[in-house]
Amino acid sequence: MTQPISAWILGNQLLSEHHAFLTAEESTAKEDIRVLLVESQHLLKHRPSHPSKLILLLSAMRHYAAALENAGYRVDYRQAPSFLIGIQGHLKSHNPSRLLSMAASDYAGRRFQETTLPEKTSLPIDILPNRQFLTGRYNPYPQPDPGKQYIMEYFYRDLRKHFQVLVDGEGEPTGGEWNYDQKNRESLPSDIHIPPPLTFSPDEITQEVIAQLSPLIDPPAEEIGFALAVTHHQAEKALEDFIKHRLAEFGPYEDAMTSRSMVIFHSHLSPYLNIGLLTPLQVIRAVETAYKRGEVPIHSAEGFIRQVLGWREFMYWQYWRGMPELKEGNHWYARHRLPDFFWNGETKLNCLREALGRALSNGYNHHIERLMLLSNFCTLAGIHPPEVLDWFMATYIDAYPWVMVPNVIGMGLHADGGVIGTKPYISSANYIQKMSDYCQNCGYDHNVRTGEGACPFNFLYWNFLLSHQDRLRANPRMSLSLSNLRHLNAQERKAVQKQADHFIKQITEATNTNHEMEKNT
Ligand code: FAD
Ligand code: SF4
Repeated sequence: MTQPISAWILGNQLLSEHHAFLTAEESTAKEDIRVLLVESQHLLKHRPSHPSKLILLLSAMRHYAAALENAGYRVDYRQAPSFLIGIQGHLKSHNPSRLLSMAASDYAGRRFQETTLPEKTSLPIDILPNRQFLTGRYNPYPQPDPGKQYIMEYFYRDLRKHFQVLVDGEGEPTGGEWNYDQKNRESLPSDIHIPPPLTFSPDEITQEVIAQLSPLIDPPAEEIGFALAVTHHQAEKALEDFIKHRLAEFGPYEDAMTSRSMVIFHSHLSPYLNIGLLTPLQVIRAVETAYKRGEVPIHSAEGFIRQVLGWREFMYWQYWRGMPELKEGNHWYARHRLPDFFWNGETKLNCLREALGRALSNGYNHHIERLMLLSNFCTLAGIHPPEVLDWFMATYIDAYPWVMVPNVIGMGLHADGGVIGTKPYISSANYIQKMSDYCQNCGYDHNVRTGEGACPFNFLYWNFLLSHQDRLRANPRMSLSLSNLRHLNAQERKAVQKQADHFIKQITEATNTNHEMEKNT
């Protein structure tokens, strides 16, 4: 008989080969290892989340526990008021000699592991390095300069060389180029066929979760048509389906937006990557193999790998580099309330209506809708960053702090002042018209800057440039946009500012009034 050890697995760390129980096995017989999983009622009830995200998490955790039991592990699955109470209950029942866990991917989770848990329990706690990210194994910049701006492109190239991804011989990029962006960024042909992502019918375990969650969420869980993968096997099927049916077109159309399809040629794999049903290297190698077999072109394979090995790792790295201050960023002194239409989707701006409708019902928008519609609008309208962050966190099925904070505060709003992104991602209607079919069916005119029917993205964009021109001038990447201000005479500048002020007042006044009414009832 060996000393009993417990391995606590967090709900978003469902790796099939989890560091915690593999480490426990090095010193302890399998029958003396308890794998602990805790469903925290506090988290379910008090942290607003998309219903599909909650169903996914609980169903995947329960499937994971069942799979571990089948593999011969002894699992203690607990539903508890909080993680702490669940863990304390486990320790009391099983009295292990040590508790192993893998470092949480987010700041609050890690503080809990490092501080609260040791304070509230008298047990030795081993926190193992997080293995859901490749930067947990190789960090290209272990001691970053606090004020320095690091560029994703070079970070990504370093990781490609280290992990030998799309790299030939002496570290040269496969195909001769590190970056195929010039072949990508096309708008979508109107007759192109777009295969939808694979869906999965809820099995008995998922149905049980849906029935249990229904009283807690609105709309009731039964009504949301949950169809996500909840096991490793299903997530692998979703990956195979993406590679077979959509990857080849991913590159050229990764920036396109259309009312015809929500996912277009994107992978829809982030919910699985973020909870350990898929691992980054598994996804990267599968895509690389498809390229080597001649099934997809290099610009799509590289374009996709750049998202996972480049952006995903870079954002995780930036999160840990910047927290906790990163979360507080408000570089533009934005102070307006988030308009109510973000919560109900009722707006006359067709592009936002389309994107918000998908976000609210499916918990998903692809990257360009998140960045160039929703975040762009919030930046231009001066919406208070913490409110934007709360909305994103509550709305998406793949939302976790490590990825939301750098994407919303850094990339989306440029509220960190440019530590993460090299320039603010802002645009007028021009970009939206070029990359989507939304403007064709909108009551606003994308060609009009001010006056009746003018698209709000236009006057808000010019107003933003005018209001922040002094600070924007410090950024060489903004010089072209700023130089266009010379085309606006004094009268036009006044008109832009007047209409922007009026519009912002209108959308935020309605919001303030609704909030007042809520408070008084
Ligand atoms: P694909 O376009 O198929 O890309 C493949 C994978 O690359 C994604 O699954 C994801 O794992 C990774 N990826 C691509 N870009 C990023 C990025 N900027 N940061 C991190 N990973 C990236 N991603 C999340 O996983 N969760 C979030 O909560 C989230 N919030 C975002 C908020 C804003 C304001 C912005 C601008 C981006 C956000 N992203 C987030 C990043 C990105 O938009 C999503 O990962 C992507 O849209 C998910 O859809 P997909 O799986 O079809 O992605
Ligand atoms: Fe959006 Fe303006 Fe185009 Fe309407 S006209 S869809 S509001 S960009």
